[in-house]
Amino acid sequence: MVDEKDQQHEVKDERYVEDLIEYYQTYVNGLINEIFVGIGISLGLDEKKAYSIAKSDPKKLEKAVFKDIFDKFKNVFKHRFPKFRTKTKVFNDGKPLSPQQWERINKEIADYWKANTEKVTEDVTVKAYVLGMKSGKDRKTRTDNTKKSLETIIKNEEKESGKKFSDKFEEAYRNYDFKNSEKNAMNRAFSNIAMHVSDTGDGIKQAIRKNVTEGINEGKSSVEIASDLYWNIQKETGNETAESVRKNWNRIAATEMNSIFEAGILAPYEGEAMESLKSDKGVYFVRIGGTCDWCLPRQGTLVRLVPISIVADAGDESLKSMGIEDPHTDIAIWVGKNNVGRKKADWNICCPAHPYNRASFSPIDLDKQEYDSKLGRVVEKVPESLRQLGIKRGEQLKTDAEKEERKPRYIGENRVQYNRNIYEAVDKSVADARLEQWRKDPSLPIPVQIGSPQYNRIFGEASR
Ligand SMILES: [Zn+2]
Repeated sequence: MVDEKDQQHEVKDERYVEDLIEYYQTYVNGLINEIFVGIGISLGLDEKKAYSIAKSDPKKLEKAVFKDIFDKFKNVFKHRFPKFRTKTKVFNDGKPLSPQQWERINKEIADYWKANTEKVTEDVTVKAYVLGMKSGKDRKTRTDNTKKSLETIIKNEEKESGKKFSDKFEEAYRNYDFKNSEKNAMNRAFSNIAMHVSDTGDGIKQAIRKNVTEGINEGKSSVEIASDLYWNIQKETGNETAESVRKNWNRIAATEMNSIFEAGILAPYEGEAMESLKSDKGVYFVRIGGTCDWCLPRQGTLVRLVPISIVADAGDESLKSMGIEDPHTDIAIWVGKNNVGRKKADWNICCPAHPYNRASFSPIDLDKQEYDSKLGRVVEKVPESLRQLGIKRGEQLKTDAEKEERKPRYIGENRVQYNRNIYEAVDKSVADARLEQWRKDPSLPIPVQIGSPQYNRIFGEASR
């Protein structure tokens, strides 16, 4: 499907979020792989053969992939992969296994799965949430950390705070002094992803039982069964093979990590959103990013955060129906808002709105900021004094072209634009009076006395 391919290609502006998703996907893929290899061995394959079948899928599992990823993140994550080897034989000399034998095998898989997914899931949940919180602040103050890797962000944060970057809930609670609403948001997000992890474990068990049973019934050899188990072009839709389990997992990890990250952005504002119900000033966000056919026309959508406690019907996002008349928007969002179980035609504005979705909410102060559709993000409004001169924006922005714009440049005979200000060269005789005027009315150009050091610095370097 074109739509779905489109959606899979969405990426976040924040590189470190992509890093986190990549690690979690790959680590769990590694565990899935281990289980299937262990089953291959239990079918009677020798270890080398089992690994080589698992890795010879031409599409995915190039030998180097895992090693590269784990090298890349070795300073961030310490999760290991124990081998999975069953005590129960799965092949049974070509005879069908009894329900009791399947029960034992399933339990072995379930134990391995639980033991190895729990810590990593808690770790990435805490990290995704804290990164969301940090990114919300960065966007608000328009600090550009987007291109930094996960490792860099974590190192910087540890240096600044003098504390280890949390990988457990209790630690994060202490380090960040979370309010109860924030703890709840984090816990809800965690129980969601934990449910998906558990479903994925069930999918593995189903795939193995189905393939082994069918293979034995069809009189296939153990090598043939193992090979069907790992990937099978004809059976790649549901949880049928290792390959389809991995594919499903990758979608889940991308979507759920993003959902936790978004909870980290929104939850810190819940208190403010509650307060805002009593005043005229709402807490607003803009939906940024998302490049599929559904997201694209919705970039820049203005929404208002409401506390989850006032949402009576999760399918109704109208502020009016919640009794809120807002002149800026009628769309409400809340922590954990989602489109799970809805048809595309009925999707509401949320992040993520669909599988793989990387769209995100960016805080906006409507008095001082606006959404720039060309840049696809929230920017400071241009002061009226600059607007009148036909200057749209530029100084405070961060791309190379924008940095170029930050340099001082002439915008008139004796005026220079520099950073967010306009400076006017004035003669010594009027300098004091002009300075006095400017202090009373800061929308006027800032007077700079000709020949002063400030004059030389700004006007001397200004381009025409
Ligand atoms: Zn999209």
